[in-house]
Amino acid sequence: SRLANMQRVTVLGSTGSVGTSTLDVISRHPDRYCVHALTAHTSKEALLAQCLAHRPAVAVLDDEADAAWLRQELKRAGQSTDVSAGPEALCDVARDASVDCVMAAIVGSAGLLPALAAAEAGKRVLLANKEALVMSGALFMEAVSRSGATLLPIDSEHNAIYQCLPAEHRGGLVRHGVRQLLLTASGGPFRTWSQADINNVTPEQACAHPNWSMGRKISVDSATLMNKGLELIEACWLFDATPEQIQVVVHPQSVIHSMVAYQDGSVIAQLGNPDMRIPIAYGLAWPERIDAGVETLDLFQVARLDFEAPDETRFPCLGLAREAMRQGGMAPVVLNAANEVAVEAFLQRRIGFTAIGQLVADVLSRPYQGCVDSLDSVLATDQWARQQALELVTK
Ligand code: NAD
Ligand code: MG
Repeated sequence: SRLANMQRVTVLGSTGSVGTSTLDVISRHPDRYCVHALTAHTSKEALLAQCLAHRPAVAVLDDEADAAWLRQELKRAGQSTDVSAGPEALCDVARDASVDCVMAAIVGSAGLLPALAAAEAGKRVLLANKEALVMSGALFMEAVSRSGATLLPIDSEHNAIYQCLPAEHRGGLVRHGVRQLLLTASGGPFRTWSQADINNVTPEQACAHPNWSMGRKISVDSATLMNKGLELIEACWLFDATPEQIQVVVHPQSVIHSMVAYQDGSVIAQLGNPDMRIPIAYGLAWPERIDAGVETLDLFQVARLDFEAPDETRFPCLGLAREAMRQGGMAPVVLNAANEVAVEAFLQRRIGFTAIGQLVADVLSRPYQGCVDSLDSVLATDQWARQQALELVTK
């Protein structure tokens, strides 16, 4: 028997940056949350430590050999957690009937199917995995409305916009008198660098974000501004907005997490320290508020807030994403897949930093077609774009 308001949570990608922050918030509220499942790709030691601390019913790893190791270790510790392996097991723990809430914090396209499974099963879905909406926004939003799932954005900008909108935003932005969504961007570590210096950026430099500590893929995306491009697409789907209704505002302090501009001239902003536990706690407790372990913003220490327009010449990825969203259809799928391959190749030192945007543009310019009417066609286009991108990396 479960306590009346106890929420049972599955954390997909629990060993990552967002996953770890989620468990931190959960552990502050043992009266409100218990863990159903924890999942990781290959970090089996980290997953073992999390299992010992949070005692989930299920743990999932990618590989069967890793799962066997974890099963053995947990047994030795006298713990009864079930351990399974593979992508289908991720979907199972996302849709399990005993689960109330799913944190979708796997990075990249690998997170799509389990996030979609949670949406189809009508869960409270805390969506960190922006790639899921970029790849299949229409299908995802449809699944949410069909099942009656509660979709709460965890990406800090979208969480901020959600907080700045009227409580009932299903009727569309226009009806609520919204003029524009102002999506803030830190500008990344190379905001002030010359083109010549940007050409020689290393993976270490790209992964050292000035304000946020994040996984490697999103850190590189932040440095190229592709992250803001993916977020623009994400915002279009979440808030039923057009690319023209979204203005990207570079704000180097990352204190304002985004804003909503209304017809009457009002602009409402959400502020806070740059700590993902704020949007995570918001998603977990909505419509209530709980302690996230985060200090109140010290405005005297912040002292000033700066704003500037993004430079799309040095950072072309933002424009590529906006154009892909305008085109619609499979363009965002192609953009996302090519970017994932390019970022991985950059992290492996196979291509330079500037080549990321060039490679994405190149794949987008190749002939592809199809519309996002089925998951199969999305996954087929994703595979096609990966192949094209890999070819370009090898060349
Ligand atoms: P991360 O790299 O730190 O963690 C990723 C997690 O996913 C890990 O638990 C990893 O084991 C798991 N994973 C990776 N590949 C997998 C695969 N093929 N199959 C199954 N599991 C896999 O990433 P992160 O920074 O926590 O980001 C997670 C997601 O949240 C991304 O989509 C990112 O864009 C989004 N996001 C992150 C932040 C942040 O502050 N880190 C902010 C906003 C949005
Ligand atoms: Mg963000």
